[in-house]
Amino acid sequence: MTVINWVFNEEDAPAIDALMNAMRSRIFGSESERKAAVFALAKERQRSWQAARECSFPDCNRRAIPRSHSLSRALMIEPISEAGHVLGLDVDLRSASYRMRRIGINEASTFPGFCDAHESEFEFEGKGAISDGRQLQRQLFRSICRHVYFLRHEKQSMARYIEELRLRALPLLDNELRQAGFRSDKRLVRAYLLEELFGNFELMVAMRTENIAFDMKRWFEPHAANFGRYPGEFGFHDELLRCPSTSVAIATVMLFADAPRRDDGTPDFSFQYYVSFFPNDGAALIHLTALEERRDRLVALAELFSDSEKAALTIQGWLRGSEHWYIRPSAWDKIGREIQDRFLEDHARI
Ligand SMILES: [Zn+2]
Repeated sequence: MTVINWVFNEEDAPAIDALMNAMRSRIFGSESERKAAVFALAKERQRSWQAARECSFPDCNRRAIPRSHSLSRALMIEPISEAGHVLGLDVDLRSASYRMRRIGINEASTFPGFCDAHESEFEFEGKGAISDGRQLQRQLFRSICRHVYFLRHEKQSMARYIEELRLRALPLLDNELRQAGFRSDKRLVRAYLLEELFGNFELMVAMRTENIAFDMKRWFEPHAANFGRYPGEFGFHDELLRCPSTSVAIATVMLFADAPRRDDGTPDFSFQYYVSFFPNDGAALIHLTALEERRDRLVALAELFSDSEKAALTIQGWLRGSEHWYIRPSAWDKIGREIQDRFLEDHARI
């Protein structure tokens, strides 16, 4: 980040401050105007979620179907559904806060992900079971694709919102500056005010751009390169522990942290497992899958999860950092109003 020293005539300082405050209240308007803008933004975000786009597979430029599941419908969504629905996080447009919404199983976890041909790569959907590492990797890949899509979509919405605010601000600011009797260079005052008003927003977009580039390199590229093969060592679980806000986590987790080593010291990836976490009946259901010959390790891991406070905290962290989780409607009802509210408020703070 560059540090800019703004040099103004000292006598102008109070007038510049006053102009800044006036601009702030005029750009963001009254509370009701601000809410209306947030409402419009959220609506636009929902509308554009299923916009036409290309398939997520590298080098595939066919058009994606509008509703690819990123969590397995047969394995993860259906088992926690009631009357064809689950509950998922949603923004309440009127109060600009989070709430839970009933979502049909054909919609839950969907995004415009893959073309018809690539959609059929997730053949375990039809079989109702993930039975080998190759399929695990495919399931993980599609969650990562949605994660990247989510980040890009959020960035786009944010950038559009800032642009809208700038368009609203510029004529007001230029008009004020024309009439002002500053001794300082007005172009400098203008640049200063724009930086103060929008600098933080622009920084947020720039950071999001960096996040996307990082996640593409860390998650998407290696998984895309390994598609259909056993995965390489992506350190996925280590990353999760360091960064509990990744939204890939709820969907699928490959744990490599204690992968046994072969004689030559390389990790043995015949040992790998897959975690899906569902809040379920007031408690947590953790669904672990591994290759049959590693069943003993899986059982040991399941025991660890049921005892370990750290594991519980990790899962809590995954949920907080992600909008990408779903709950059985009756399970949500059972956890009680106080916990529900705390959960939704926690999420709003992210
Ligand atoms: Zn494709």
